[in-house]
Amino acid sequence: MKKLAPLALLLALPVAAQELTALKTTDVVDGMYMVEGADGFAGGNITMLVGEDVFLIDDGIPPAGSMLIQLAEKLVGRSIDYVVNTHLHGDHVGGNAALADDGTLIFAHDNIRKRLLDDTSLSGGPGGLPTITFSDAVTFHVNGHEANVVHLAAAHTDGDAIIYFRDVNVIHAGDLFFNYLFPFIDLDNGGSVAGFKAGQQRIIDTADADTIIIPGHGPLATRADLQIALDVLTDSEARVQKLVAQGMSQAQVLEANPLADYHEQWNWGFITTERMTITLYRSLTDGQ
Ligand SMILES: [Zn+2]
Repeated sequence: MKKLAPLALLLALPVAAQELTALKTTDVVDGMYMVEGADGFAGGNITMLVGEDVFLIDDGIPPAGSMLIQLAEKLVGRSIDYVVNTHLHGDHVGGNAALADDGTLIFAHDNIRKRLLDDTSLSGGPGGLPTITFSDAVTFHVNGHEANVVHLAAAHTDGDAIIYFRDVNVIHAGDLFFNYLFPFIDLDNGGSVAGFKAGQQRIIDTADADTIIIPGHGPLATRADLQIALDVLTDSEARVQKLVAQGMSQAQVLEANPLADYHEQWNWGFITTERMTITLYRSLTDGQ
């Protein structure tokens, strides 16, 4: 009984309020790990590639920054050489400042830096601004691997990148992919539903049946999982579109609850069924 009380307390707290004290690693391929919070929310999924160099994709919320430095030290006795930010959200770039302090070079799409200049708190402070920015693509050659970083336009935001490790058949999709969770499509930061779907299709076209896909949120995935996510989004949009075509207001669409069939599996704390419906409604009625 003694052990049950703290667990019950932990479960009663909202995820973001749990104090993060440890990171958890999941093997992806030899020398590559997916990193997430072990006992609390650390942010979006992180990829760490270790060897002679340490290469990181995203760095979570601010407390994760110093913990990632410790993790690299523990795994290979080195500091982190490079980090690529997949987009500007604070749960993906929050560790930037701590890493930069430790000598890590920060790479990001041009639009991430532009948007972070308006609010450097997202990246843990001004020190967390990306040092090197790119417009379309950049390739890292690390530990015998090639990591192709490719920008996808107007998708989750207007500064998204996915990272493709061709030789080991791994794709880090960032927030282009919420695995079995309704996706966040950030219309206010340059994202779009059409671009999000096109980005997912591009990942599907790049992948094969054996590709390991690291989503921005949720467990490790395959191309089949991503196809399901795209199918659900496409169908959800069509369901909302049908009601918009009937002249329904946002309130009427919410009342009709066209995504009810998906609620049980895809609704979650951040993107509820209601919020997904509103995003699709906004996207379909923008400018009308
Ligand atoms: Zn995001």
